[in-house]
Amino acid sequence: MAMNVQSSSTLSDRVNQIRLLTAQIVNNEILPNENRLWATNADGTFDEAARDESRDLRAHINDVVKQAGLWAPHLPEEYGGCNLSFLEHAYMNEVLSYCVGAASLFGVVAPNSGNQKILLKYGTEEQRKKWLVPLTEGKMQSGFSMTEPDNAGSDPRSIKTTARKEGDEWVINGQKWFTSNGKRADFLIVMCRTEDPDGPAERNGKMTQIIVPTKTPGVNIVRGVPVWGRPSDHAEIIYDNVRVPLENQLGQTGSGHAAAQDRLGAGRVYHCMNSIGQMWRAFDLMVQRAASREVHGGLLETKQFVQGFIAESYIDIQSARLMTIHCAERMDLGLDARTEISAIKIHVPACYHRVVDRAIQVWGAAGVSGDLPLAGYYQGARTLRLADGPDEVHKILIAKNVLKQHHAGGSWDFGN
Ligand SMILES: Cc1cc2nc3c(=O)[nH]c(=O)nc-3n(C[C@H](O)[C@H](O)[C@H](O)COP(=O)(O)OP(=O)(O)OC[C@H]3O[C@@H](n4cnc5c(N)ncnc54)[C@H](O)[C@@H]3O)c2cc1C
Repeated sequence: MAMNVQSSSTLSDRVNQIRLLTAQIVNNEILPNENRLWATNADGTFDEAARDESRDLRAHINDVVKQAGLWAPHLPEEYGGCNLSFLEHAYMNEVLSYCVGAASLFGVVAPNSGNQKILLKYGTEEQRKKWLVPLTEGKMQSGFSMTEPDNAGSDPRSIKTTARKEGDEWVINGQKWFTSNGKRADFLIVMCRTEDPDGPAERNGKMTQIIVPTKTPGVNIVRGVPVWGRPSDHAEIIYDNVRVPLENQLGQTGSGHAAAQDRLGAGRVYHCMNSIGQMWRAFDLMVQRAASREVHGGLLETKQFVQGFIAESYIDIQSARLMTIHCAERMDLGLDARTEISAIKIHVPACYHRVVDRAIQVWGAAGVSGDLPLAGYYQGARTLRLADGPDEVHKILIAKNVLKQHHAGGSWDFGN
């Protein structure tokens, strides 16, 4: 079923053009080939012919995306991107994510995309040439290595991995896990606690991101941590006296925490727009099934339970989308959007979870099968409630900001 994307009178001509062009590629190139683009057998193995076919298909779609001027929306033209504004990119995401795996077909796939943005903002000219350019050209892969098994990822300043200055080198020791793309990565951006007597003393000021090529002696990729019962490339990594030159440090000593916040803030809006595209797909699938499946003497669409599912899902998607757009507009205007970011980080995955849950229910056994994207969406939606900062941490932040405003003498202004 094609995604129904039309021009909207509330959007700029440019945003409309981007959404329509993206939808054209999604509907004409990706959806009809979706089952062949990521060909795997039921046991998770690839067969040679299917693998070659899917590789060729993906390369063809990459070319179509490039010709449409939509490749790598998060990057400036000089680094091979199409230089979309923050809002344009956000609106593009809800359309492209209607298809499974479409982000990589548009050259904007995590964790590489987040690393590209950080290299762009914090990297030196030399670092950009060495790491950003090959990453964008698809000649390298990367990972972002922050979370540790023995310390709370929800409080990133609790990390124990250290970087000690010795001569003209950083010496890194520690253990990380859930470094996505870790086994395939050519380099990792590692969040460290810097031990530099001349560096800043306060807690945030100790956090520094350092580029570590994966083949450096002492980088020990222990395993891909299985996720949802399947092998994964979310790697557990031990850094054992890993030595890299001081110039591999990204930005100033102590800028690591701010860089991580930069990465996550915008990233959360993009992730939410992705979730909205996926909910949109789940919703269309649910409606399609309700209108065609006959049970107990009538179509599902005639049953009030199912009508309730459709109505509640409509409300979930609309509320999630409008909240996310409101947040994105504030960010685009340069306004403080920390409360809004936390709110969408909680609300959107919860809506996503409910919408997919209902779509699965309507599809019955087919809903949990590998024939539809719903089972994968369901796991993704659940994971989003704890990744990128768990819900509880964001609730605390919202309450803190609201109470701060109250104690400063003002109530919350919901009109802005
Ligand atoms: C699929 C996947 C991919 C990931 N990719 C990466 C990656 O590429 N790089 C990377 O560095 N990390 C990655 N992560 C890690 C992710 O960022 C962390 O899992 C997340 O930040 C939570 O940290 P934690 O798992 O240590 O949970 P903890 O910090 O131990 O928190 C556990 C639970 O405690 C509760 N909690 C926490 N704080 C509070 C509080 N103040 N009050 C009440 N309850 C609270 C929450 O319910 C939370 O879920 C990934 C995780 C997953 C699942």
